[in-house]
Amino acid sequence: MESKKRVKISELLKREAGTDVLVKGWVRTKRGNKNISFVALNDGSTVNNIQIVFDMSKFTEEQLKGVNTGACLAVEGSLVSSVGSGQSVEIQAHLLEIYGSADPETYPLQKKGHSMEFLREIGHLRPRTNTFGCIFRIRHAMAFAIHKFFNDKGFFYLHTPIITASDAEGAGAMFQVTTLDLNNIPKNPEGGVNFSDDFFGKAANLTVSGQLEGELGALALGEIYTFGPTFRAENSNTPRHLSEFWMIEPEIAFYDIKDNMDLAEEFIKYLVKYSLDNCTDDLKFLNDMFDKELIERLQSVIDTEFVRLSYTDGVEILMKSGQKFEYPVSWGTDLQSEHERYLVEKHFKKPVILTDYPKEIKAFYMKQNDDNKTVRAMDVLFPKIGEIIGGSQREESLEKLEGRIKELEMGTESLWWYIETRKFGTAPHSGFGLGFERLLLFVTGMSNIRDVIPFPRSPKNAEF
Ligand code: ATP
Ligand code: MN
Repeated sequence: MESKKRVKISELLKREAGTDVLVKGWVRTKRGNKNISFVALNDGSTVNNIQIVFDMSKFTEEQLKGVNTGACLAVEGSLVSSVGSGQSVEIQAHLLEIYGSADPETYPLQKKGHSMEFLREIGHLRPRTNTFGCIFRIRHAMAFAIHKFFNDKGFFYLHTPIITASDAEGAGAMFQVTTLDLNNIPKNPEGGVNFSDDFFGKAANLTVSGQLEGELGALALGEIYTFGPTFRAENSNTPRHLSEFWMIEPEIAFYDIKDNMDLAEEFIKYLVKYSLDNCTDDLKFLNDMFDKELIERLQSVIDTEFVRLSYTDGVEILMKSGQKFEYPVSWGTDLQSEHERYLVEKHFKKPVILTDYPKEIKAFYMKQNDDNKTVRAMDVLFPKIGEIIGGSQREESLEKLEGRIKELEMGTESLWWYIETRKFGTAPHSGFGLGFERLLLFVTGMSNIRDVIPFPRSPKNAEF
């Protein structure tokens, strides 16, 4: 059997009948009688299975005993036209090897239709379900499309650090990285932790964003993007937050906020279109099983111009809406997901880019407007999700940047290098961060962010 080369099922299903083939994969179902057995085999290359037909005059009951749902097999046989409906070809088995059986009494994926909650508890096996196969293939396709989009535009992929000693990134609470003995923490004379004894000689954390380093790249290479894991130690147990998630952060010299919005809109539409063009079977499965409007919704985003609106105008719409919100809204408050979704789903019924937020609720590095009240921030808001992108034009003036840092009473020791870029050859520039899993929520139609990443990390949960 080993003399033959394995053919993936995605390939087989495109082939004409008439050749001998070798397939390897996991049994999804087995049915039949004394004379004939039908096995649906899946190898992860596609959501579709290949049907294997075992003529029981050529195989013994004993040989087929280990062929149960979940078992892993290699089968050699002839590819023939299928008489049954649903598939064009099937395999008439000649040889069978069982790599690994799966005990029907204990294999957890027996019955159809497990709940998403249950599947999260078996994160080691859930990739073998149709649903998660689809999701992870789409995740791959989106990652590839992200690199393709930027590469085709001449952007450079910049690797920013995962461990950082700048504590002022400001995007959220951080996970500390230390090699200090937690049972015997070295103290300085003031009684605080003596970080000079720690691995990096100072306090270090996992990054919450690659942006600050991304800006250094943009101010040298012109157009860069990052794509890597980021970490937030916030106790947010929501269907839209993870403690470890992936972010894509383009940063572009000579872009103002308008260029930045244009890029964000083009980028999302490109990715959504890429999924429709390249993940057809997987999207169709998710559409049929979970969300009958999924494909329609994806298509409509490509065809729609996003609404562009200032925060001030957005707040006015919300206040006049007569809608009762859990968190009341007025000028100056940070918008909650319920507000964002009202604008997108009820008021405009399309994606919205909200700009020019009050400076108090946005980060120190955003470009200050002349009104002295707002900054050139932009959030892209999406149906079912709320914020999918957060970005801004950056403050390029040394004086204004330092002024804002003083206002906020931020320590600048760990940020000296960032500030120096405004001293030496500063330039207007902009960028944004797209949460990869938020994008995947939209593209797959899933409702919980823990179901679009293979091994989710969230408060009190780091299994697998
Ligand atoms: P939110 O208000 O939704 O908590 P944020 O404003 O804190 O998000 P940013 O710091 O602007 O988020 O991060 C940029 C993008 O990263 C967001 O637009 C979102 O898509 C994504 N993102 C942020 N926090 C998380 C998280 N905890 N889990 C998954 N994605 C996230
Ligand atoms: Mn944000």
